[in-house]
Amino acid sequence: MKIFNTLKGRKEEFVPLEPGKVKMYVCGPTVYNFIHIGNARPMIVFDTIRRYLEYKGYDVNYVSNFTDVDDKIIKKAVEEGVDSSVISERYIGECKADMAAMNVMPATVHPKATEEIDGMLDLIGTLVKKGHAYRAADGTVYFRTSSFKEYGKLSHKNLDDLVSGFRELKVTGEEGKEDPSDFVLWKPKKEGEPYWESPWCQGRPGWHIECSAMSRKYLGEQIDIHGGGEDLIFPHHENEIAQSEAASGKEFAKYWMHNGFLNIDNKKMSKSLGNFFTVREISEKFDLQVLRFFMLSAHYRSPLNFSEELMEASKNGLERIYNGLDKLRELESTAAAETLLEEEKPFCQKMEELVAKYEAAMEDDFNTADAVSAVFELVKLGNSTAHGESSREYAATLRKTLESLCGVLGIVTQRKKEVLDEEVEAMIAARGQARKEKNFALADEIRQKLLDMGIVLEDTREGVKWKRA
Ligand code: AMP
Ligand code: ZN
Repeated sequence: MKIFNTLKGRKEEFVPLEPGKVKMYVCGPTVYNFIHIGNARPMIVFDTIRRYLEYKGYDVNYVSNFTDVDDKIIKKAVEEGVDSSVISERYIGECKADMAAMNVMPATVHPKATEEIDGMLDLIGTLVKKGHAYRAADGTVYFRTSSFKEYGKLSHKNLDDLVSGFRELKVTGEEGKEDPSDFVLWKPKKEGEPYWESPWCQGRPGWHIECSAMSRKYLGEQIDIHGGGEDLIFPHHENEIAQSEAASGKEFAKYWMHNGFLNIDNKKMSKSLGNFFTVREISEKFDLQVLRFFMLSAHYRSPLNFSEELMEASKNGLERIYNGLDKLRELESTAAAETLLEEEKPFCQKMEELVAKYEAAMEDDFNTADAVSAVFELVKLGNSTAHGESSREYAATLRKTLESLCGVLGIVTQRKKEVLDEEVEAMIAARGQARKEKNFALADEIRQKLLDMGIVLEDTREGVKWKRA
């Protein structure tokens, strides 16, 4: 199996630290709003990689954090007049709901920064003791980049260039830095912000330290794969390497994997640019299986442009797979012959070749685009060779193979259960009642349940209208 390793700038054979086991850490979202479909890309990509590794028999320990202490969370909490944990807990819940709807498996552990402060203090303490970090007069603790000779090795930047680049960029409040490229490990509290006690000052952690601390706690000092979006290469992952390796003296992660950006109109989709769709918005128009299938139609390292036309094409592609599976299921229940017929043997051979093609694509740095074409070829094989005279064994083998390959991509192979009109009407009436009683939480819950069933509501002057997505 080959993996493109950002650290080496090339594909490498995957050899886990411990045979049969994979330790994987993927940087998760900062929870101050609903996740957008750009954030969904690493979730879907790394979930698919995890699924493939499990399909190959690896025992995968998958850790992904929630950054729940951050300026944006604090700002939103101030705006709403609530504690910042109210904001982060709300959006962790919403994020988990979106992940489930995209069929992203929960991580083995989902640590939250605010619950891991002890581990961060311990790590910072080690860095200070070893001379890799220092406390400035105002209590801020900085990482001393000049003490870590390999700084820049992930982003392939040269420390001297970085220092001169940073010199241009004077950040107020960071005058206590020895060097412009040093970065914050711990910072003093500000009025009204959450803070923790520490040997240096009352304050809160910088962003980068949380991943180093959580990865060390849940996976140990050395891991196999570390992942995230390509925007995290510098400075976030570069800083994670500096922190972890300076503290342990060992290589932190063997393989660094980065997904390309999800763009809109060929521009980076991001909250700061305001050109984004939340996963929740998309779920009102499309089943999120379509979003997942769309993401996997490209190689994970390529940029991917989002458009409604491409989503429609993915929807049609998914429909082709469902139709193929429906036909095979039907044939299984009506087949006259039980066991494989002589003339079906060459088709089974072809099926095995397609499975091999699918696996070869996935083994080549998880080329899901080519894996998806192998799935389509399998559907075509079923459509052209399975018919009323086929054996049950042949139809069942084709169906199971198709289900297994789709399953590795995280594509659910059962159509959503047909929802009856009466069921929908009853739920809409219950939602109306809840709203009358000002129980908006319940009303929203019912609306979401309907959405999950593929029913979209529209509140109009004539009352509530609904349609199937
Ligand atoms: P953030 O909440 O901004 O820290 O992002 C969480 C994850 O989403 C990180 O791995 C980012 O690299 C990734 N990400 C953010 N925006 C995009 C995008 N437009 N396309 C792909 N990945 C993204
Ligand atoms: Zn991280």
